Amino acid sequence: MPEILLVEDDAALAKGVARAIAAEGRHITICGTLGAARRALERPADLILLDIGLPDGNGLTLCKELRLTSRMPVIFLTANDTEEDEIAGFCAGGDDYITKPFRLSVLRARVDAALRRAGCEDVLLIDGFRFDFAHADFSRDGKQISLSRSEQKLLYALVSARGRIVPRETLLDRIWTDGLEYVDENALSVTVRRLRQKLGKAYIQTVYGVGYRWENANA
Ligand code: CA
Repeated sequence: MPEILLVEDDAALAKGVARAIAAEGRHITICGTLGAARRALERPADLILLDIGLPDGNGLTLCKELRLTSRMPVIFLTANDTEEDEIAGFCAGGDDYITKPFRLSVLRARVDAALRRAGCEDVLLIDGFRFDFAHADFSRDGKQISLSRSEQKLLYALVSARGRIVPRETLLDRIWTDGLEYVDENALSVTVRRLRQKLGKAYIQTVYGVGYRWENANA
């Protein structure tokens, strides 16, 4: 369930973009300023669509900051040739850029491709499981598995990490994304237990004191 951050100060354009890239299970946050984007980035995201000319600064600055700590895909939304030149001369690591005005279908394809490259596929086939996050459709060997919303988010965070340990704090952030109420760590343990009951114990490993890791049974 990819988290997408859209930084664009033209509210009408932002709305159109959000509609074009929307999919079941994708969560899109819209920010109109660099300041708002920095606050939003306190939570992990999977992709950022980044306008260059923003009311409180330049999108390139934010990308530079991001690259100090993150490999998150960045797609720039540029308004003119000058901005494209800026990007061409910019070595801090945007992944792609798209020039305004753009066709929403083209933008959609670029976003889908960037998410795939980043390992955020909507459908994953693992060990007889079929996890279709876009349609909230989960099965093993054709037999349906019913997962709650928080179980789906936990599963996504673990399988998209591909065997890397996902720290408890990251999971807490990613599963309870509304961020308004305090979530105690016990809620995470309970969700892990339920998911293990539904998928089989072997797949979700506890890394004591750190977090959890997905491991394929036949790996
Ligand atoms: Ca702008």
